[in-house]
Amino acid sequence: MKNGPWFLGIDLGTGSCKSVVVDEKGRVLGFGIGLYGGTDPESRWQEQDPRNLMTAAAVSVQGALTRADVARGACLGLSMGGALHSILALDSRDNPLTGVITWADGRGLHHAEALRGGSTAIRLYQETGCPVHGMYPLYKIMWLREKRPEVFRATHRYVTAKEYVFSQFTGQFAVDYSLAAGSGLLNARRLRWSDSALELAGIREGQLSPLLSPAAAQGSLKPDVAHRLGIPESTPVVIGSSDAVNSSVGAGAVSASQATCMIGTSGALRVISGRPVFDENGRTWCYAIDEKHWLVGGAINNGGIAVSWLKDSLGPVMPPARSPGELSIEHILDLAGQVPAGAEGVVCLPFFAGERSPNWNLNARGVFFGLTLEHDIRHLSRSILEGIGFRFRSLQDALAGIGLDIRQILASGGFAKSELWLQIVTDALNREMTVPRWSETSALGAAFWAMLGAGCLDSIDTAGNLVEQGKTYRPIPENAALYNQVYTVYLKIYQALLSAFDEAALMQAILPSTNA
Ligand code: ADP
Repeated sequence: MKNGPWFLGIDLGTGSCKSVVVDEKGRVLGFGIGLYGGTDPESRWQEQDPRNLMTAAAVSVQGALTRADVARGACLGLSMGGALHSILALDSRDNPLTGVITWADGRGLHHAEALRGGSTAIRLYQETGCPVHGMYPLYKIMWLREKRPEVFRATHRYVTAKEYVFSQFTGQFAVDYSLAAGSGLLNARRLRWSDSALELAGIREGQLSPLLSPAAAQGSLKPDVAHRLGIPESTPVVIGSSDAVNSSVGAGAVSASQATCMIGTSGALRVISGRPVFDENGRTWCYAIDEKHWLVGGAINNGGIAVSWLKDSLGPVMPPARSPGELSIEHILDLAGQVPAGAEGVVCLPFFAGERSPNWNLNARGVFFGLTLEHDIRHLSRSILEGIGFRFRSLQDALAGIGLDIRQILASGGFAKSELWLQIVTDALNREMTVPRWSETSALGAAFWAMLGAGCLDSIDTAGNLVEQGKTYRPIPENAALYNQVYTVYLKIYQALLSAFDEAALMQAILPSTNA
């Protein structure tokens, strides 16, 4: 057993809870995971059972502690990160009135769309840093007010999934700035709840938790929780931040010239900036982290999900040649690697799940352009990976347009397992991309806030020194030059299709459906 001091980082993600135990140098000693289960992936309403969160958190912490084999009394602090944009309504006894409504839930879309382009949308963006989009809890509260007035009236407080688990851990309600910002209800510059957003939602400030800076220590563990987790009640609990912030901090991307490129199911390009940065066209978001840092970036719907779409579409009709059983992501990547950069003229607009940043176009749809009789599944595979790279290029350009000149990129998410995919994105962005050795960056970032709270780390500005970096990918000059040209064509296709996307969305309503 190791006797030195240690810290616990807990990451309440969208689909699972992951925990790490780290030593005072930020080295990972143990890792554990607990799955939530219970969400219907086909549903447009994405709700999780809040009880599953607590169980998953306990399972993940216990797993990390068992693997780390540390002296239980030597924990100097724990901190918790949470997925952005979730919301849960609680009654006057703090019992849930709804499930945890996650970012993927589509209920707020129409309320957001109704505001798009108007003066309220512009004012809200300038105040909250959040473009008008239904994923923000602000619009889900508007939906509840209209469609579930009995729930709206009975709601005593609105919390995120993390606040709910935090309250179960400590008996107190509190929220850090970045999770508050992710609700669409925080004034990003003044670090207080936004009067305009509260008015639009029709709620009072008292229905939201008190705001805290992420390194703030907030009490200790309730006895039953301490017993369940197997650590002392006196363990300091630090409020921490969101999974998005933690993923950057845990990857060591803490300066404004660095970005994290995350491609999991969805994707995001994020920069930690020393000042709030807004885009007059509302292409990017800006979430407060603490009094001196803001997370600026853009998120895309179509990351790995676009590759999974091809895999799932082909699976039933094309048995893999090399191994029996299900077609895997690795097969698709293998197929993509069989054709050269540029996919011999096939360009993919990977809007299979619509678009978020930078154009927030709900009607955008997936497109394969340039197909001839010479092309086959290998070209489709490669063009999807390249199309995802071009989505990131659009985000990088949008960030450059607001003064964030990214020089170095840190990779995170499932795509970082593939050398081919990493190289394609490196070439599309024409920037060096480094893969941190520890891939669970959100859980590691959570542990860093516990270290900050305990005074073992000065500032997140120096957190990068604790992160061990792995392989660096460098742009291949001829591929980068080629992608520059293909990207121009990609943009032209997108522009040319804008009105067709809108018309097709209207037409969709009258087309016969196999699900009818
Ligand atoms: P989540 O967003 O659910 O946390 P992950 O970060 O685990 O997702 O990433 C999942 C994505 O990683 C999948 O959608 C898939 O596209 C991609 N992926 C899975 N396996 C591999 C692999 N071997 N190489 C590259 N990418 C992969």
